[in-house]
Amino acid sequence: MTDTIHTPFFKQLSTLYARMDTVWTAAADHYGFHCRGCVDNCCETEFHHHTHIEKQYLLSGLDTLDKETAAEIQTRAATVCEQRAEAGKTNAPAKIMCPLNTDGLCRLYDFRPMICRLHGIPHELHRPGAFPMKGPGCEAGEPFFSATDYQTFDRTPFYSSMARLEMEYRTAVAPPGRIRETIAEMLIG
Ligand code: SF4
Repeated sequence: MTDTIHTPFFKQLSTLYARMDTVWTAAADHYGFHCRGCVDNCCETEFHHHTHIEKQYLLSGLDTLDKETAAEIQTRAATVCEQRAEAGKTNAPAKIMCPLNTDGLCRLYDFRPMICRLHGIPHELHRPGAFPMKGPGCEAGEPFFSATDYQTFDRTPFYSSMARLEMEYRTAVAPPGRIRETIAEMLIG
C-alpha cells in the first residue's frame, strides 16, 4: 500500500493531520476539556468520509497490524455494515460502535480520518456564498464550552487543504469515482 505513488501524498496528509491535532488540542486546552469517553460516544456515530486518500491511508494503517488482528477488525467491520443496513430499514437512529474501537481506544489512532480529529470542539466553517456555519461541540464538553469564551476553531483551511490534496491524489492515482463511506465500509474495501 505505501508504495512510491502513495508515499508523498501520505506524508502531506500526515502533516495536515498534525496541524488539525495541534489546533484541536489548543482549543480543548482553552476550555479545559479533555475527552475521556462518554455515554454519547462519537465513535458510535455514523460519519461518512469522502476522500480516497483518507481511505487508502486508513487501509495502510490496517496493513501495519498483524494479520489476525486485521482480519478480526474486518470481520467486525462487516458485522457493523450489516447492522447499519438492518437499522436503515426502519430509519431508526442507530448507535453502533466503530469496528476500530476496542475498549474505548482507537486501534488505528494515527491513521484515523479528519472528522475523528475535528469532532467535539465548537467550530466554524466558511463556505463561499454561504453564511458562516457554527457548530456547538459535543454534549460532553458543553459545560466546559459554555463556561468560557469561544476560542476560534475554523475548520475551513483544513477542509480546503484536504480538498486540494484529494484532487492531486485523484489525478495521480486515479481511483474510481467518488466515495461516501463509513469507517466500516472503508475497512472492508
Ligand atoms: S476511526 Fe477511531 S476515532 Fe474514528 S470513530 Fe473509529 S475508533 Fe473512533
